[in-house]
Amino acid sequence: MKKIILTGDRPTGRLHVGHYVGSLRRRVELQNSGEYDEIYIMIADAQALTDNADNPEKVRQNIIEVALDYMSCGLDPEKTNMFIQSQIPELCELTCYYMNLVTVSRLQRNPTVKTEIKMRNFETSIPVGFFTYPISQASDITAFKATTVPAGEDQMPMVEQTKEIVHKFNSVYGETLTEPEILLPTNQACMRLPGIDGKAKMSKSLGNCIYLSDTPEDVRKKIMSMYTDPDHIQISDPGKIEGNTVFTYLDAFCRPEHFERYLPDYANLDELKAHYQRGGLGDVKVKKFLNSVLQEELEPVRARRKELEQDIPYVYEVLRKGTAAAKEKAAQTLAEVKAAMKINYFDDTELIKAQSEKYKA
Ligand code: ATP
Ligand code: MG
Repeated sequence: MKKIILTGDRPTGRLHVGHYVGSLRRRVELQNSGEYDEIYIMIADAQALTDNADNPEKVRQNIIEVALDYMSCGLDPEKTNMFIQSQIPELCELTCYYMNLVTVSRLQRNPTVKTEIKMRNFETSIPVGFFTYPISQASDITAFKATTVPAGEDQMPMVEQTKEIVHKFNSVYGETLTEPEILLPTNQACMRLPGIDGKAKMSKSLGNCIYLSDTPEDVRKKIMSMYTDPDHIQISDPGKIEGNTVFTYLDAFCRPEHFERYLPDYANLDELKAHYQRGGLGDVKVKKFLNSVLQEELEPVRARRKELEQDIPYVYEVLRKGTAAAKEKAAQTLAEVKAAMKINYFDDTELIKAQSEKYKA
């Protein structure tokens, strides 16, 4: 069986370091591993419109931002099809048929959607498109016969829902769709990176992000303002590591060689944590270290972005080509789905022949 990747992001803003550790960094590694036969990375504009229907300009403007972030992190158009969701109507058609296989109560149980509904204060006025977006995500994943979905923890319920649709579809209409597996970050801190305010998730919609394209000065300021342990007032006070955002970010980003370069008094992160817990280590020192680590990681990304920003038509051309390749694949899957569902009337010569004979007889 072919190994195929599908994943993506909503163009609701520039991408942030949560995206980077949760999915983007891994995608680039997987792309460069050469182990995958096909890779599709989707800019989910249709999904972004499910809770931004009144703000199409925001979605439109952010397509290029997401594409620039992708390519500056190392996604390579020679190896990866980067495409725009709304340009592939086959995905909507699949969604329409999958809707028959999912109940309203099943959708209501989706924990990620529940949290997002609360976060957006939808209360009783939830757009139907938003409520059903897990079904549309199942279409995105299955249209490409994806075996692997590299994503953050919040996507687990979506991949579960997709698996259920695949089982249901295959059991009703015959073996057609491929069951995907989510590929989560191996590091706990990367599953759901908190915001700089310490809130559970760094998210474009919450405004608590360090963006990949932030200037070095913005990054530094944001790190200096980061939430730590509110009870760690004097340097001599013992500090807490749990829920301390600066340490969570170090868990996500720092490697032993960073200590050699920027903080040689400590051999590794465990030693730094132990000192903080004992007392005698100030927040500013830890934040400065995090700043050095993050600047080192982001510098090459920023430099590549600067170059790409000089040739926007090229970036759109990459998306156009990626979209054409993705459309071809989705159309093929849709044809198989329609054949399995027996709604391929005009292609089904057997049907026409059998019915002609019935009436002749
Ligand atoms: P929005 O607020 O518009 O939903 P978002 O910041 O949540 O935006 P998405 O486009 O919904 O970003 O998510 C894209 C991908 O990035 C998903 O795979 C998701 O799991 C991952 N991701 C997003 N935020 C984080 C985070 N804070 N930590 C780890 N992974 C994340
Ligand atoms: Mg999200």
